Amino acid sequence: MSNSGAGRLSQTRSRSLQAGLKNDLKSSKEAEKLSSEHSGFLYFTAGVHPHEAKHFTDETSAVLRTLLENPQCVAVGECGLDFNRNFSSREDQLSAFEKQVALACELQKPLFIHEREASVEMVEILEKYADQLPRAVIHCFTGTADEAKKDIDMGLYIGLTGFLWKDRSDKGVRYALENGIIPLERLLLETDAPYMYPKINDKKVPATVRETFTEKVIFWF
Ligand SMILES: [Zn+2]
Repeated sequence: MSNSGAGRLSQTRSRSLQAGLKNDLKSSKEAEKLSSEHSGFLYFTAGVHPHEAKHFTDETSAVLRTLLENPQCVAVGECGLDFNRNFSSREDQLSAFEKQVALACELQKPLFIHEREASVEMVEILEKYADQLPRAVIHCFTGTADEAKKDIDMGLYIGLTGFLWKDRSDKGVRYALENGIIPLERLLLETDAPYMYPKINDKKVPATVRETFTEKVIFWF
């Protein structure tokens, strides 16, 4: 990246932080504005996070559609289901998610999906639209290997973050990766900054992985 590119990125990052890292309509609009100021350099997604699903109305759908028609907008999301925290009721989450899936199918924009403890319900909704589903990624996947297999079988991509370092389960993300359940061609790496940073000092980091750390890597983490 050029110096001016790095400068613009750091400026952008601080502005994003000032704007608040929230995934609702307001932040989608702010993201659109930011990307229009850096056309060809920054792209954005537009969607309503499951935490904000209680605010999803017909008006929301209309505004979302306008945002999604912008060529700089590359995906619908984050949208999805979070039955771990339930900041919006399950009914509101299911309804807002399905409306956004329908919109993604209609406009053929990729889906950027957030899913926590709601794999069954998410798959149920996606299956309804299986024949018209655009490409979709389960971002920051934290589920089990069985759930990953279901997602892969549906043609979805899996986004992995520093959660890999926090995974304590025997049949979770690490198991899925080591056993080829998540093929590399379906794997996306993401930071999900600032939440899911890798814990490189974790006791569970295998020696083989620890040995490959360079000083540069340690500096960044
Ligand atoms: Zn998320």
